[in-house]
Formats: sequence, C-alpha cells, structure tokens
Amino acid sequence: MAKFPEAAARLFHNVFVCKKCKTKRKADVRKVLDKKISCRKCGGKAFRSIKSKK
Ligand SMILES: [Zn+2]
Repeated sequence: MAKFPEAAARLFHNVFVCKKCKTKRKADVRKVLDKKISCRKCGGKAFRSIKSKK
C-alpha cells in the first residue's frame, strides 16, 4: 500500500526495528536508507520499518 518510503515512514512514526536484535529505533527514513544510524544495542545497521513483515 505504501506509495513512497517517506510517506510510509511518516505513517509509522519513523520507527524502525533492528533486524538483528529487534530493538526499536526512532530515526529519519533518509538516515536509515543512507545507513547513517546504527542500533544502540548491537551496532547493526540493518533496519526494517516497524510494520513490514516478510
Ligand atoms: Zn540491534
């Protein structure tokens, strides 16, 4: 349903989840895409948006 990553991020309050340790991290979507943020717990840089499931 998401049209743009930015729009989706706004809807989901810019919260992302670390793929490694599942820690929630609030961050700007652009920083996530540019890998400028890292997880506070494990230092990982792989994040997914909070609502996306696979
Ligand atoms: Zn982590």
